[in-house]
Amino acid sequence: MDRIKSGTRKINQMPRKALIAANWKMFKTPAEAKAFTDAFLPLVAGHDRDEIALFPSVTSLATVVEAAAGSNVAVGLQNMHFAEEGAYTGETSAAMLKAVGATHVLIGHSERRQYFNETDEVVNKKLHTALKHGIVPVVCVGEHLHERETGQTGLVLLKQLQGALHNIDSAHAHSLVIAYEPVWAIGTGRTATPEMAIEAHMIIRAELANIFDSHFAKATRILYGGSVKPENASELLGQDEIDGALVGGASLKPESFAAIVKY
Ligand code: PEP
Repeated sequence: MDRIKSGTRKINQMPRKALIAANWKMFKTPAEAKAFTDAFLPLVAGHDRDEIALFPSVTSLATVVEAAAGSNVAVGLQNMHFAEEGAYTGETSAAMLKAVGATHVLIGHSERRQYFNETDEVVNKKLHTALKHGIVPVVCVGEHLHERETGQTGLVLLKQLQGALHNIDSAHAHSLVIAYEPVWAIGTGRTATPEMAIEAHMIIRAELANIFDSHFAKATRILYGGSVKPENASELLGQDEIDGALVGGASLKPESFAAIVKY
């Protein structure tokens, strides 16, 4: 592994600082989220090799932002609406997210695609909105098991990327983060091998070069997600092609998530 002093990765002279992100899904009340944050921050104090971000549910967002204020841990939301405001009962806007002090957002997580009908078109609209508001977007892509087993992984990734990035201006998309999350590995305990993840990341990076340019592609962080835990973090995150992780189940306990951050 080739790391330069600041902790960033250096591939073809293009440094990328890894991002290790916790997706808490629909877990934790505000009190539980605060207890996690209070316990977690000392465990990662001074850690600047990677960026760290917590993605609580909307009701805990303000609590976690406040608890993490002044620390090395950023906070984001797991979803947001693409509209500026309006009659969208139950939704959260970019302005609301920012007003609370959150800086990141997950877009197109497979659970949103699967259970809430989130299409590539919706993902694209949300990405436009996030970039317009200066929110760091983490766009999730990944294939289902039957798609992998029938050799369609590459096609699925290209379709999702082309849909998500439609009409996105690369000049305003430097904060873009892609998370490769094979659906069959999410919450299942099955993890992609480093070889599988690297292969998918290379497909994604090549498509970013195709859609934008190779400079943009080399600078863009591509995270791996899917049953990352302390036991497998180093074999995945130690790969130059893997620029961090999106972690679900193993991010719910401070010690476990800190162990992943500090793999
Ligand atoms: C996720 O929610 O994005 C995820 C990768 O979950 P898990 O780590 O539990 O597989």
